[in-house]
Amino acid sequence: MLGGTATHCPYCALQCGLRLKAGARVEVEGDPAFVVNKGALCIKGWTAAELLSHRDRLLHPLVRDDRGELVRATWDQALERIAEGIRATQARHGRDAVGLFGSGSLTNEKAYALGKLARAVLRTSSIDYNGRYCMSSAATASTRALGLDRGLPFPIEDLGEADALLLVGSNVAETMPPLMQYIEKAKARGGALVVVDPRRTATASAAALHLAASPGTDAVVANGLLHVIVRDGLVDEAYVRDRTEGFESVRAQVAGYWPERVERISGVPTADLERAAHLLGGARRAFVLTGRGPEQQAQGVANTLAFIDVALALGLVGRRGSGYGCVTGQGNGQGGREHGQKADQLPGYRRIDDPAARAHVARVWGMDPEALPGPGRSAYEMLAAMGTPGGVRALLVFGSNVVVSSPDASAIEARLRALDLLVVSDFFLSETAALAHVVLPSAQFAEEDGTMTNLEGRVVRRRRALEPPPEVRSDLAIMRAVAARLGVTSYLPSDDPRDVFDELRLATAGAPADYSGITYDRIDREGGVFWPCPSETHPGTPRLFAERFPTPSGRARFFPIPHVAPAEEPDDEYPMVLTTGRLLAQYQSGTQTRRVEALARLAPEAVVELHPAVARRLSLSTGDQVSVVTRRGRATFVVRVTPAVRQDVIFVPFHWGGERCANRLTNPALDPSSRMPEFKVCAARLESSREPVRHAGGAP
Ligand code: SF4
Repeated sequence: MLGGTATHCPYCALQCGLRLKAGARVEVEGDPAFVVNKGALCIKGWTAAELLSHRDRLLHPLVRDDRGELVRATWDQALERIAEGIRATQARHGRDAVGLFGSGSLTNEKAYALGKLARAVLRTSSIDYNGRYCMSSAATASTRALGLDRGLPFPIEDLGEADALLLVGSNVAETMPPLMQYIEKAKARGGALVVVDPRRTATASAAALHLAASPGTDAVVANGLLHVIVRDGLVDEAYVRDRTEGFESVRAQVAGYWPERVERISGVPTADLERAAHLLGGARRAFVLTGRGPEQQAQGVANTLAFIDVALALGLVGRRGSGYGCVTGQGNGQGGREHGQKADQLPGYRRIDDPAARAHVARVWGMDPEALPGPGRSAYEMLAAMGTPGGVRALLVFGSNVVVSSPDASAIEARLRALDLLVVSDFFLSETAALAHVVLPSAQFAEEDGTMTNLEGRVVRRRRALEPPPEVRSDLAIMRAVAARLGVTSYLPSDDPRDVFDELRLATAGAPADYSGITYDRIDREGGVFWPCPSETHPGTPRLFAERFPTPSGRARFFPIPHVAPAEEPDDEYPMVLTTGRLLAQYQSGTQTRRVEALARLAPEAVVELHPAVARRLSLSTGDQVSVVTRRGRATFVVRVTPAVRQDVIFVPFHWGGERCANRLTNPALDPSSRMPEFKVCAARLESSREPVRHAGGAP
């Protein structure tokens, strides 16, 4: 085909380039001109256009009537209900009683507009987004250690030149398959892939070495690697001396993580740990990459810092052909965390508690800095406090399905049901939208313009290939209409994303994530522009940290990280460790992918993966039903017996709601600084439908 409109996949942070040809059916083709995926797509990308004309699509607003039913309404009725609800809530309970919840799938323009809607129109501090559940630990760790957070501070193509690659808690072979072409290229040149993961995932199966660490022991493995690196003289001493600070305390700290101790705590065999350290330490070019495995824990920041310590000790960060990065998850997980939908942030990574940042943004917004609210609660904290004194009583949700994606999901669902006003903008009636008082139908990726920032920090263009259905509106138009109903007509320059982007450029000028030199025309001409890009003549910044780190001293910082056990450990009542993750054929809360026929055929059921020894002990076989029970609740899954999972671990994917919702089980214990919930580890037991099944975990 290779005609049509060049745009990008609506799903993950790789933002694969694709071409859409609108007709009776919208056809999809991978775009070979986009350098990141070079034409390759995974099955999610190939089938993304099916949702444009799906029979479940929301095609007009819905409003809950006196009988409690969601019924068809006009936009006028829906907007009036929202405006009345906001006014009444703020009059009775104060400005912060109205909250906004955004998403890492929103374009940069929408993320920016949502932050501005909160601070400049509603004047509420209550705003956060689902990226808090995804990227906040990596963001906090990178900012602390390196002075700046950008998922990959280098172009993805650099990975293909690696001699060694350590991938921690990320199953890219299933979550972003086109990325594997770079890993395969590195392997073909003799490079070695080392994977740390409690499961033998498709990615781990492709590795030279798989370290099957127990969930919650990531920092132990990192410290063990560093112990061997120090012990065996593999530290890049010149780099450590010239470009970093704080190594001596880390050197002393990791002395206590000898390989036998690491094996005892994590289950990683001594010989494998030593081999991994030497593969990394002996490589001329190497990368350390972290994913949600180590990050989605109550120790997520510490775990990530521990792996950054490894990368710094080896002199990788800022060296061409080497580096540290985090593998961002959601489509705009990068841009979504930069432009002000986070509770503590203004556009461009400016901090909301920084007077200079407030003054700059207030000037762009034409308001008094004093009128800008301060920091609000993080995503889970805002949701958990709904309906309590001082908590949110009216919530507007854009592009997020919090009933499925929040930890301790049943408790969050109960709080949502008790709200005075819940408004959800989405394409489908998600589990969260089904609870709403007002549901707004929004445009899909192929029906809108805007920008997304992929996992490399490359700003790309989402381009409209067809008109949305007649009564469907873009989120920008929705936010603008809400503001207008509240009497604020000057909130956004127009509904046109290009105008909003031009304002975003002004708001981010001089900030860490500076977009001021990026324009739509440049993105079109150059195939994407890397931030920071402080002027239209600046080439953009594909590689960060080459000369110095943006810390006060210009050096990267080491942090000694002692092992701290997960918030919940197995005991007699809950003897197994539960961990959660993604499948190839589903995406996030499944609102979209569960509706795509080809994907539903590949992954029709929420499965629980159990080791054969566990299944034998419990007389369970593949295809049986079993309940997983934790201190939060219970969910039921179809058994899949596989040796790919450790004997002490239960794995469930988190793409389903209701009785099969993995997050009814997960622990909302939060990282003390990133406020990331502990999705990746909690204590659990298995129960047959008849009675609790007593059993004990074992070694992998
Ligand atoms: Fe879409 Fe990600 Fe698949 Fe690429 S890897 S096609 S961006 S879901």
